[in-house]
Amino acid sequence: MYALTFGGKEIINYSNIADPILLSSTDAIIKISLAGICGSDLHVYHGRETGLDQGTVMGHEFTGVIEEAGKDVKKFKKGSRVLSPFTTSCGKCFYCSIGMTCRCEKGNLFGWVQNGHGLHGAQAAYIRVPMADSTLVPLSNDLDEQKALLLGDVFSTGYFCAENAGIRRSSTYVIIGCGPVGLMAVIAAKHLGAEQLLAIDFVPERLAIAKQFGAEPLNASGLNIKEEILNRTHGRGADGVMEVVGSPQSLRSAIDILRPGGILSSVGVHTAVNFSFSPGEAYDKNLTYKSGRCPARYYAEKLLREEVPQRYAIEKIITHRFSLAEGPTAYEIFDKKLDNCIKPVLMN
Ligand code: NAD
Ligand code: ZN
Ligand code: ZN
Repeated sequence: MYALTFGGKEIINYSNIADPILLSSTDAIIKISLAGICGSDLHVYHGRETGLDQGTVMGHEFTGVIEEAGKDVKKFKKGSRVLSPFTTSCGKCFYCSIGMTCRCEKGNLFGWVQNGHGLHGAQAAYIRVPMADSTLVPLSNDLDEQKALLLGDVFSTGYFCAENAGIRRSSTYVIIGCGPVGLMAVIAAKHLGAEQLLAIDFVPERLAIAKQFGAEPLNASGLNIKEEILNRTHGRGADGVMEVVGSPQSLRSAIDILRPGGILSSVGVHTAVNFSFSPGEAYDKNLTYKSGRCPARYYAEKLLREEVPQRYAIEKIITHRFSLAEGPTAYEIFDKKLDNCIKPVLMN
C-alpha cells in the first residue's frame, strides 16, 4: 500500500510499504477514508518530538471502513464504518473505567513507532487497530464523515480544553492559538456558556473563523497582550485561559494574562524541558493548572450522545483536501499556513 512515512526532520515520504496484517484476534484492519494532518504531526515534522523511527507511517486522525476483523472482534464486521480516537484503549483497565482512555494501561498512540515498538499511523491506505472493539467508535450513516474525523481528535481536544477551563457564564476567557484545536475550543467554550470569550492568534483568516464561531478575535501582531487583557478585565486578568499552541511563549502569555485564582487549561503539546513560569509565580497566582492528552475515545462517545458536533458547523475548519500522493505538499502548505490553510485532510 501507499503511505506517508517519516523520513527525518521536515521530510515526509510518499512510500510503497507492506499492507498491515492482523497480529491479534482483537485487531481490525481499516480501509482509511479520511485522514487528518494535525498540529501534533508538525511537532514530529520539525523534529521537536524526538525518537520516532524513520519509516513510521504518520498520522493519528482517521475514519474508515472495516476491511478485516479478528475473530474476537464482536462489535464490528467487514464493511462497518468507524471513526477512531488518536489512541487505542482496552475499555477495562482503571484508566478506561474512569474515562481517561488516553492513559489506558494497554493503550498506544497511532503514528508513533520508537525503537521498533508502537503503532503505525493513518496517513495511508490501511491501518491496523488493536483492541478494535474498545478503541473504535461506530460511525452512523447520518453523521457527516468530516465531523467524525474531527471528533477523533481536534473537536474532542478543544472540548476537553474548554471543559477544563471551568467555563462559567459571567467570566472572561481567553483562547491562545486559533489553529484547528483552538477553533474547536471556541465552539466548545460557547457551547458551555462562555459569554466574554477572546481568541488570540497572528493569522487573520484563523481569527476570522474564531469570530464566526462566536469569539472576539485579537490579533497578537504588534499588540501588548498583557496590557490589552488587563485593560478589559478591570486590571485583574482573565478568569480562565486556554493555551492551544504548545510553545514556551504561549504558556508565558497565558500566565501573564491570568488573574489570581484563575484556571490555566493547556492542551498544547510542549517539548520544552521547563515551564515558562516559576513555582513562585504559580503560588502568587493561586494557580490551577490543567493539562494533558485528551481522552478522545471518552469525549467522542459523550459528544455524539449529546449531539454536540451535529449542532455546529465544526467541519468549516477543513479548508483543504488532498490525495495521499499529495501528502508531502499538504504538510508544507499546512506548516507554512499557505493558501489560508487551516486543516488539511487526505482522502483515499
Ligand atoms: P496549529 O499549529 O495548526 O495551530 C497553532 C496556532 O497557534 C496557529 O494558528 C499559530 O498561528 C498560533 N500561535 C502560535 N504561537 C502563538 C502565540 N504565541 N500566541 C497566539 N497564537 C499563537 O495546531 P493545532 O492543530 O491547532 O494544535 C494546537 C496544539 O494542540 C498543538 O501543540 C498540538 O500538538 C496540540 N494538540 C494536543 C492534543 C491533546 O490531546 N492535548 C490533541 C491535539 C493537538
Ligand atoms: Zn491530532
Ligand atoms: Zn484501558
